[in-house]
Amino acid sequence: MSIALSEQCNLNCTYCNVDKLSKKRIDPELFLQQYRKKKSEYPNERFQIDFFGGEPLLQWDLVQRITEEIKKDGNQLFMPTNGLLLNEERVDYLVKNNFRVSLSFDGLWQDLNRPQHNSTGSLKHYIEKRDLFKKIPDLECHTMVSRGNYNLLENHLFITELLGINPDLTLVRDVGIWDQEAVQKFNIGFSELVNWYIANADSVEVPGLIHHYLYHIILYTSKRVRVDFCGAGDHYFSFSENKLIPCNRFKDDNSMIAKIPEYKLMKECESCDVKNYCKKGCLFENIKNEGPIVELCDIYKHIYSELIRMVKELNGNSTFREYMQREIYDA
Ligand code: SF4
Ligand code: SF4
Repeated sequence: MSIALSEQCNLNCTYCNVDKLSKKRIDPELFLQQYRKKKSEYPNERFQIDFFGGEPLLQWDLVQRITEEIKKDGNQLFMPTNGLLLNEERVDYLVKNNFRVSLSFDGLWQDLNRPQHNSTGSLKHYIEKRDLFKKIPDLECHTMVSRGNYNLLENHLFITELLGINPDLTLVRDVGIWDQEAVQKFNIGFSELVNWYIANADSVEVPGLIHHYLYHIILYTSKRVRVDFCGAGDHYFSFSENKLIPCNRFKDDNSMIAKIPEYKLMKECESCDVKNYCKKGCLFENIKNEGPIVELCDIYKHIYSELIRMVKELNGNSTFREYMQREIYDA
């Protein structure tokens, strides 16, 4: 379950459509009612509770109220945050309560993609806070890749060097973001990242972007598991504006929720070469687009074909083989 505490945010990211100046907040007691109901429906399941915003640290009192109530239940607690409102006390609280924390940070693209409300950049604040960030064990970093962000390798190396974290690069998957020129440039950037990894596989970790898509191939080839949609409304729910819905994106339009069964498995995918691996983008955006977004499909097909080439080229590499064996075991 995720909780959209409020859409309010202290940054003004170009690719994010939430109401960043919103004054609306959820009522934590109403969330706890829904949480207890779901817990009683699935008494043997371990839940992951994601504290989302906007920026969740702007609602610190709600984070604490909910955490104090549910922490005894053995859930995995997760918070994606831009991190700018972290301080020693908050870091201590998150660490003490075993939160998995993921920093939303775009590295070299930060000032372009994630400006502050006064239009100034925010990168310098991350550099100032990096020692504080390093106090969070197993801190993750997720980095959005949008149109204009093609130097994937350079940014991967920048973030790895600055924070000591292998970032998870995630495509912005909204309708209207990508065009064919942007797709071509992204694909060149992706091949550059793959070639760099092939040349250095003995001495570097598998970059997060490669790992993410390679895992889909591993899941299917080793376990015959296909991921056809994100699970919104199925095994993933969001508590947004005091109601439980499939995902925060669906909060304003019930007619979109009604279309989920139709788009969980899209007819266009059935004849596609990568259907067994592909996670098929964002369910909400596919419904909006009335089918898969062709520019993203071109990216997915390039990614999977490059990864299959990579696996073949690294066939004799023992470090890579060990990595693959571990992933197959964990899949
Ligand atoms: S690439 Fe596009 S058409 Fe092919 S499986 Fe993925 S979403 Fe479906
Ligand atoms: S609908 Fe889109 S944003 Fe919502 S959970 Fe699915 S992939 Fe994520």
